[in-house]
Order: sequence, then structure tokens, then C-alpha cells
Amino acid sequence: MIKCKECGHQMSERAKLCPNCGVENDIVFCPECDKQLSSKATMCPNCGYELKKVGTQVQKNGKDTLSLVGMILGFCSILAWLIPLLGYPCTIVGIILSACGMNSNKKGFAITGLVLSIIFLVVTLINSLIGAAIGAGMVS
Ligand SMILES: [Zn+2]
Ligand SMILES: [Zn+2]
Repeated sequence: MIKCKECGHQMSERAKLCPNCGVENDIVFCPECDKQLSSKATMCPNCGYELKKVGTQVQKNGKDTLSLVGMILGFCSILAWLIPLLGYPCTIVGIILSACGMNSNKKGFAITGLVLSIIFLVVTLINSLIGAAIGAGMVS
């Protein structure tokens, strides 16, 4: 346990935020040797592991893009109604991208994309089935 630098509240050193005042915990752990480090450290003094802060930032931003694209594809899946040939891949890619973006900063986009894609995928499937059923009925 450590004490919060802001309010002095006892909290786990693994907690990201202080449960009492919500201030960010700036203690991080080396992913290699698990030694306690300051968040300002760029290298672990124990094992020499380089803390690639910039790298993780880029990765997170990349996921933001995924959720945004997922949401756009979710809206595009409306096309599935009109052009199933385009709509199906659109909804499926939208679901995959949104699922990938779920743990990014833009979680809202990812959820919107996922929900829209799934709704339109189901609706288009039902639509095709009804269409097929009517078609079959007309033939027989
Ligand atoms: Zn606190
Ligand atoms: Zn280390």
C-alpha cells in the first residue's frame, strides 16, 4: 500500500487512480522485472528495460482510429439495405474494427460502430431471408 500524494489516502500501488480523490497514481512497474518505478522514468534502473511511453501512446491513438473507422463503417452498413454485396463486408469489417477499438480512448465510437454494424448485419440477413422466401414462393 502507498499513500496518495494528493490526499494521503491509503491505496494500492497498482491502482491507476486514487479511490478517494481520483488523482492519477504516477507509480508504474517495470514490465520486465516488476520493480516499482516513477512514471517519469524512461528506463528501469534495475534491469535496463526501456519504457516505451511514446510507443504505447501511438498504439492507443491507433486504436482510436480503429473505433472511429468502425463507427463510420457502422453507418455505412446502412448500405447493406440497398447493396447487400457492399453492405455485408462493410458490416463485418465494422464489427471487427469496433471490437478492436473497444479498449481505446474512443470507446463510445467503438460501441456505436459495433451496435450499428450488428443491427444492420442482422436486419440485412433477415431481409435476404425474407427475399429468398418470397422468391422461392414465387417459383413454386
Ligand atoms: Zn487521493
Ligand atoms: Zn526492470
